[in-house]
Amino acid sequence: MRIRLWALFFAALPLLAAPPLKPLARGANLRGEVMILVYHKFGPADGRWTRSFDSFSQDLARLDAAGYRPITLRQYITGDFALPAGASPVVLTFDDGSAYQMRFGPDGKLSADSAVGRWAAFAAQHPEFPVHGTFFINPGDDVFGQRDAIQAKLRMLVQMGSEVGNHTLTHPNLSKLSNAAIEREIGMGQYDIDRWLPGYQVVSLALPYGIFPKPPALAAVGAWTGAPQPHRSDVTVRWHYPAVVKVGAGPAPSPLVAGLEGDKLPRIQVFTPEFDKWMSYFAAHPARRFVSDGERHAAGSLPASVSGHRLAGLPAR
Ligand SMILES: [Zn+2]
Repeated sequence: MRIRLWALFFAALPLLAAPPLKPLARGANLRGEVMILVYHKFGPADGRWTRSFDSFSQDLARLDAAGYRPITLRQYITGDFALPAGASPVVLTFDDGSAYQMRFGPDGKLSADSAVGRWAAFAAQHPEFPVHGTFFINPGDDVFGQRDAIQAKLRMLVQMGSEVGNHTLTHPNLSKLSNAAIEREIGMGQYDIDRWLPGYQVVSLALPYGIFPKPPALAAVGAWTGAPQPHRSDVTVRWHYPAVVKVGAGPAPSPLVAGLEGDKLPRIQVFTPEFDKWMSYFAAHPARRFVSDGERHAAGSLPASVSGHRLAGLPAR
């Protein structure tokens, strides 16, 4: 009996020695979930894969009014964001480089009839909601519909604080390709982004159709050596993406809690019932929502558990 008591005492020592947790700002919830939204096409009317410009403007206004502030996927995965206390991060991602995500008018300026144009106009009135989105492009396909302007658009996005991510060269179903072909699709996608944005570090990959390659680990880490064009010498492209995103599912975990699986992040597709569902969900369950304490924290810096007990474990949804 005596031995058991001593064992308990020693088992409890690490808990007693742990530094006290810093008190959080009122209402802060660094363990809450984060919505990573995904948009595809834009046009005059809403559809399953198309958001109308007016609905997009309303999405921005709704998010802003509900206390959400945009961060890129790069910021999410690295924890490199410090929002005002009480604000919640939201990640807006855009897949496929579809034409009306970003358009230049005949004057070479950003057109209001494009998602980025709408967002920039909104941000001009609401500086707390800047154009900090993540754009997943397929360099082998059309990128925003105006080929001559690709580089100027990508530079403008990065200048605004947005992120450019890899969505592979030509958007294939990666599960149907050989290893060599998978490596070429991911490697060439990154090669072209490097060419348009020299020195830019790509940290995010969106899986075409949300489908993993076989083996799945190739999505996050790999290398490709080959000639980017016929009659050109070989190049080697390496990638190590901390963030790999799927197509749909639900909100993503807090990036600050240890154990995040960044190589398979869920997203929420924005079409009317789905977006409404999750906005209502977080309004009804504020305890599940990530709420900032006004400070910057390293990704994974909060322990997932102490002595085998989950901290602030969230109930099943
Ligand atoms: Zn896609």
